[in-house]
Amino acid sequence: MGHGVAMKAVLSLFPGGSTMTMSALGEPCVLLKLGEIVLKGKNRELFERRLIANIRHALEGTVDLKTDVRKRHGVIAIFLPEGTTVEQAEAVAQRVAEVPGLVWIHRAWRVAKDPEAVLKAGLELVGESEEAKRGARFAVRSRRRDKRFPLRSNELDRMVGGAINDEYGLPVDLRNPELTLHIEVDRDEVFVFTGGIPGQGGLPVGSSGRALVLMSGGIDSPVAAYRMMRRGLHVDFLHFSGIPFTTSESIYKAYALVRKLDRFQGRSRLWVVPFGKAQQSIRTSGQDRLAVIAQRRLMLKTAEEVAHRIKAAALVTGDALGQVSSQTLTNITAQDNAVDLPILRPLVGWDKTEIMAEARRIGTLEISELPDEDCCSLLAPKRAETRAKIEDLKQIERRLDAEELCVQLADSIQEYTL
Ligand code: ATP
Ligand code: MG
Repeated sequence: MGHGVAMKAVLSLFPGGSTMTMSALGEPCVLLKLGEIVLKGKNRELFERRLIANIRHALEGTVDLKTDVRKRHGVIAIFLPEGTTVEQAEAVAQRVAEVPGLVWIHRAWRVAKDPEAVLKAGLELVGESEEAKRGARFAVRSRRRDKRFPLRSNELDRMVGGAINDEYGLPVDLRNPELTLHIEVDRDEVFVFTGGIPGQGGLPVGSSGRALVLMSGGIDSPVAAYRMMRRGLHVDFLHFSGIPFTTSESIYKAYALVRKLDRFQGRSRLWVVPFGKAQQSIRTSGQDRLAVIAQRRLMLKTAEEVAHRIKAAALVTGDALGQVSSQTLTNITAQDNAVDLPILRPLVGWDKTEIMAEARRIGTLEISELPDEDCCSLLAPKRAETRAKIEDLKQIERRLDAEELCVQLADSIQEYTL
C-alpha cells in the first residue's frame, strides 16, 4: 500500500477535522525513555525492575492519582486514569523527571494501533499546540518498535505530515523543525506526543548498592551526594555537629539539604554525631596545624564505623582537589589511609564554579548559602598543614585513643528520618 493511497483513504474518513473532540487523542499517559540502562546486557532486566520500583515509589507520596507504571519494549509507560487533567499529567511528568535512570519524559497520548487513530490524534495534538497557532515549521518522526504495523515509519511520517500540512497549512521542515510530532508504534498501542522534558540520566538508585555521605552544611557535599545517587547508589547522610559548643543550626541545614535531595532517591536518613567534645580533645592533643586533618581522619573513622552498622559499602565526600588546604594530594592520601572503605569523591576534578552551578540546578545552593556555625570553624588554625605526615597523625590518634573514640561517637549518633 503506497502512502498516498493510505493517506487519502484515511483522510476521507475525517473531513474537516474541526469536529474532533479531545477523545480523539486517546488516553493520557507519560512515556519514559531509559538512559544508560539500554547499554546493559544480561542485567538489564534487573535495572529496569529497580527503576520501575523507584518510579512507583516517587509517585506514591506525591501525586494524587492512581497511576499504572508498565514496562514496554525499551520504554516505560505510565498510564493515567480517565479524566486526568493536563495539570495532573504534567505533575506526574515533573515528578518522574527527578528519578535517576531516565533521559526523557514525554506527556503522550496512547492511541489504538491503527493508522486512522494515529492520524486523528496527530492532527489534534498539532492543532492544539501553541507552535501551530504561530505557523511553526514542523516534522513528523515515527518509530516502529512493532514491525507488524501496516505502515513503515517513513510512510507514517508522510501520511500524517501530509495531513497536517493540508489541514493547517504548516510548512514541513525535516532539518530544523520548531515542532516535532513523535509517533511511536509499540506492541499493544501507539504513543503520540510533541516535546518533552529531560530526565536526570544516570542509573536507577539502589542498583549500585549503598553508601554513606559525609554531609556538611556546605555547597560541595550535597552535590557529591547527588552525583553518586545518579550513579545508582542509595545514600545515607552523616553530619558532624559542633554540639555542645555550637548551636543546632548546622543540623537544621543538613536536614533541609537531605530533604531537598530526598526527591532523587526517597527513604533518606540523616545521622548526626555530636562532635564538639571530640574536637576539643583534638585541639588539646597535638600540633595546631595538624588539627584539621586529624579531625577529618576522625570523622572518616567514625563514618566507617557507622557505615558498617548500616551496611554501607563506601564513604562519599565533597572533596575537590586543591580547593582548600585539607584537599591537597598529600592530605587526601592521609585521609584514605585512615579507613579501609573506599572514599568516593565525585567532585575531585570539578571547579568551584561548576559545583555551584550544579548546586543551583538541583536546588541545594540556596540552603548551603544560609549562614551557620560549622563545626570546622571551631578548629581553624592560622596556617593549616598542606603536607600532613601520616606518622604524626597516627601519634595524635594514639594519644586520643581514636579507635575507641570513634566507636563511642558512633554510639552517640542520632537518627533523623524524613
Ligand atoms: P562542603 O562544601 O561540602 O562543606 P568544603 O569545601 O567546606 O566542603 P571541607 O570543609 O574541607 O570542604 O570538607 C570536605 C568534605 O568533608 C566535605 O565535602 C564533607 O564531605 C566532609 N565534611 C566536612 N565537614 C563535615 C561535617 N561537619 N559533617 C560531615 N561531613 C563533613
Ligand atoms: Mg565545609
